[in-house]
Amino acid sequence: MSHPRTLSVRALRSALLSSVLLAAPALAEETHWGYAQTVDPEHWGEVAGGALCSTGVQQSPVALSTSGATHTNVQAPSFHYGTSQVRMVNNGHTVQFNYDVGSTLRLGNQEYKLAQFHFHTPSEHTQNGVHYPLEVHLVHTDAAGTPRVVVGVLIEEGLVNAALFTAFRHLPRHEGETSTPLGALINASALLPFNRAFFHYAGSLTTPPCSEGLQWFVMKNPIHLSDSQIAAFERLPHLNPNNRPVQPLNGRDVGLQSAY
Ligand SMILES: [Zn+2]
Repeated sequence: MSHPRTLSVRALRSALLSSVLLAAPALAEETHWGYAQTVDPEHWGEVAGGALCSTGVQQSPVALSTSGATHTNVQAPSFHYGTSQVRMVNNGHTVQFNYDVGSTLRLGNQEYKLAQFHFHTPSEHTQNGVHYPLEVHLVHTDAAGTPRVVVGVLIEEGLVNAALFTAFRHLPRHEGETSTPLGALINASALLPFNRAFFHYAGSLTTPPCSEGLQWFVMKNPIHLSDSQIAAFERLPHLNPNNRPVQPLNGRDVGLQSAY
């Protein structure tokens, strides 16, 4: 009596098997990546264009420590940030704030453009072994649009961050959504701590393709967001966590400039 049913299950299996086989070549060119299960950071090296994520030797983030850093006289960046309309996009990996043109960071006579900032939860860098609830990355590009300088700021729970008040009440919740709250402006200077002591090291993008050759400045002092602001980001579907684990230093020097 069960014979016809068995046959149909076999037929179904066979159909599934051939569709898996057909799909196999496409898997070799997988471009999807994330933070959970089979697409987690351990697998980013297998993503198309992501080889450096596993073979790179100057990768970010790293574990920062005040005792392990060498006191340095690396020139501090100077910030020339103006205001921007708040223009957010949920790209499935973070919420990115695309910044209006005209804001720059200068290192000596080099000038870089503030292109965007975005958030990770928990923090990607650790300081003295501690993860913070959030970290913001301010990404600066060269004239060709290539990221060259990233400023990382650790975020701890405290008073409401007024600069992010409107934005964090209108975070785009789902991948592909954008949010541009009417009339909402932000000056990214409000995301820098008052005391600008910083760690400095040579690193990479913390997401595929994990490109190296980036200068990292991670502020030693955190800024504050309220518990409800932090929770608003933590509650976004699929973005908690969205931190890459710390990567080996492989002999890199981490400088600490405290003269601020
Ligand atoms: Zn980032």
